[in-house]
Amino acid sequence: MLHHIYSDYYKQPAKITEKKPEIHGVVLHDDAENNKAVDYIQWLQRRIDKDELEKGWACVYVDKESCYWFHPSNYIEWHCGEPFANAHFIGIERCQSLINGVLSDKAFMENEETSYWIAALLLKKYNLPITRETVRLHKEFSDTACPARAWQVHLGDVPTNEKNINKLKDYFIEHIKRYSDQITKDDLDVLG
Ligand SMILES: [Zn+2]
Repeated sequence: MLHHIYSDYYKQPAKITEKKPEIHGVVLHDDAENNKAVDYIQWLQRRIDKDELEKGWACVYVDKESCYWFHPSNYIEWHCGEPFANAHFIGIERCQSLINGVLSDKAFMENEETSYWIAALLLKKYNLPITRETVRLHKEFSDTACPARAWQVHLGDVPTNEKNINKLKDYFIEHIKRYSDQITKDDLDVLG
């Protein structure tokens, strides 16, 4: 059973950013850290305390046990290093994804399952299809290796180009689609 935790941004009127003008889809990120989703509660609080939020943050942090909903999905995020993507896509940060980090590939793939489920729910909530246009990679928007772990696990040592980007997106799409038929109205209630 996934444990959903919500930050104070869900309880207070003040938000970090303005609302997104429109939601086009989701971006599946790999955090390249050893942090669990719950570790991001303090990690993000430190960024707030040090006034360092501009270094980046996403709507939700996930692993196989928990989802930490940091900021409402309909608000602009600082997750892609690119204004259009930040204003139109929802960031799903897949935790403990550091290459050669605490997780085996198999354990990392268990965390990935949560990200597919949450992606399926968010796309459903915003009435979006599951396509190459709505399921995106960080590296499509800026110069980054993200999602580096998934790239290594699912594609191997291959260059970043359109063909390989689409290959990984198609893999994500296939896994997100496996969940989309199972979604009930109650499932959508957990979304932040
Ligand atoms: Zn990323």
